[in-house]
Amino acid sequence: MGRHCELCGKLIPKERIDALPKTNRCLECAKENGSDLDTRRVDIGMDRDTYRDLLGAIRS
Ligand SMILES: [Zn+2]
Repeated sequence: MGRHCELCGKLIPKERIDALPKTNRCLECAKENGSDLDTRRVDIGMDRDTYRDLLGAIRS
């Protein structure tokens, strides 16, 4: 029984599921769109470093 990526539909490698049992994204989609397990990044909707830069820009 395999699990398919929620974004591209490709089969997620068993090694990745072993490492991240709750993931629904393959490595490529996790890299491009952020991991579905990183809820904070999903809430922010942007890269965490970009968010930090934005906060710094607002404060300065
Ligand atoms: Zn994918």
